[in-house]
Formats: sequence, structure tokens, C-alpha cells
Amino acid sequence: LLEVRDLSVAFRGQAVVRGVSFALNPGETLALVGESGSGKSVTALSCLRLLGPGGSNPAGSIRLDGVDVLDAPPAELQRLRGGVAGMVFQEPMTSLNPLHSIGRQVGEAVTLHRPLRGAALRARVIELLQRAGLGAAAERLDAYPHQLSGGQRQRVMIAVALANDPRLLIADEPTTALDVTIQAQVLELLARLKRELGMAMLLITHDLAIVRRHADRVVVMKDGMAVEQGAVSEVFARPAHPYTRLLIETQP
Ligand code: ATP
Ligand code: MG
Repeated sequence: LLEVRDLSVAFRGQAVVRGVSFALNPGETLALVGESGSGKSVTALSCLRLLGPGGSNPAGSIRLDGVDVLDAPPAELQRLRGGVAGMVFQEPMTSLNPLHSIGRQVGEAVTLHRPLRGAALRARVIELLQRAGLGAAAERLDAYPHQLSGGQRQRVMIAVALANDPRLLIADEPTTALDVTIQAQVLELLARLKRELGMAMLLITHDLAIVRRHADRVVVMKDGMAVEQGAVSEVFARPAHPYTRLLIETQP
């Protein structure tokens, strides 16, 4: 589904991702772990060519759903974004538009890819919000982001990410900004959706407990490089790289 080969990204001559390769199969959860600044978000954003100016010329190759992402024309990129891969971020990065109701924002995500209107659109939006665990979704369509809790806002973002039945969900520290009890709920929701909808997930996290619980395979990143990768059970039982050992020791 997703194949990243020898990806390198530099900002103003400074390499921040260096020769990263990994593959993600349909239905699988792959975790990207590593310290702050190790290049996890840049790697994830590259997969949909969402890097801002300055980082817009990644080298290597990325294939998503058979498409060469780094060489895809704009219309094809548009289809990949949301249509093939949905993204959920740590909240501060992509907070919702404070001026638009949540019904409108989820609706706009739907109509980017499908020509639904009126009652059919409304029904789809309610279905998505319910899927994301926002109970009484019909009553919340007119709510604005500030009227929701952080966990509920993240659920709206999940509804947006699911709007076009993606086959891959890229979740970049989706729960870091939430308090601990809500973190677990949102992660369980993502895991359940992934199972029920048969999606694959690229899950970026600092938390090895989350990796153990939710991921099939793991890529360990350090200084822009993938220093180790493999099945979670293998890597945790027999870490080969000193940095992986350090990670495991500091997060028992
Ligand atoms: P964290 O765990 O803190 O989210 P990360 O592993 O996701 O860290 P990245 O966001 O991928 O780290 O950043 C990797 C490096 O790239 C950092 O040194 C960062 O400063 C740099 N970087 C990221 N985005 C940009 C940008 N738009 N312009 C310049 N440098 C950038
Ligand atoms: Mg990051």
C-alpha cells in the first residue's frame, strides 16, 4: 500500500531525513518511534507531499496505492490525500477552523471527493461523526470547535480523516495533546476503526506502550535515519541497535 524507499529530506541544506525505507501492507499498523526532531513528522508528511516550502523536494521514492507520490500531478495528489490516505495530527498543528461549524467542516471533507448535497450529505456527515464516537452527532452539527472538548475535537478530526473511506490512516501523535484517560479512548477508537474498516495505519508516537499494544511492526528513527525496524515482538525482545535498547530501558 505504501512503500518508502531511500527517502531523504533537507531544509535549507540541512538533512533531516536520511535514507529512510519502509513498507506498509494493507491492514497493517506500522509505528514510527524516535526522539523529538528525529524526522518522524517530516517522513509522514512527505508521504502525501504535505511539506511546506523549503522541504518540498524530497529525494528517493514513495509509492502510495501504486502511485509515485514524488512525481504525481496535482489531481492525483488530491485523490491520494483523503481518498487513499487520511491524516490525523497532534491537535495544535491542525486545529479545526474556529469560524466554521463542525458539520460544515466534515461536510467539506466529504465534498472534496464526492458530489453529495442536501440530505444525503447531512446523513453522511452524521454517519462519520457517529463512527468517530461523537454521540448525538445530529445535535452537534451546528457546534463550533470551541464548544467541544479536546478529545471531541480530535474525534471530529478523525471523522474528517475518514470522510472518503481511506485505506490508510496516518496518525501523527494523535493523542499527545489529550489527557491520559482520553488518550486511551481515542487510541482504542482508532484501533477499532482500523479493524472494522480494514484500514492500514502509520502510527507516530513517543510511547512504547502504545506501540506494544497497537502496532504490528515498528521503525525506530534517530537523527533522520531508520536505525532499526521489524516485528514489534522481535524488536522489543531483541533490540539490535543501542538507541532502541536505550528507548526500551527508559520506558519500561
Ligand atoms: P517530534 O517528536 O517532536 O514531533 P519529529 O520526529 O516529528 O519530532 P520532525 O518534525 O520530523 O521531527 O522534524 C525533524 C527536523 O526537521 C527537526 O530538526 C525540525 O526542526 C526540522 N523541520 C521540520 N519541519 C521543518 C520546516 N518546515 N522547516 C525547517 N525545518 C523543519
Ligand atoms: Mg512530529
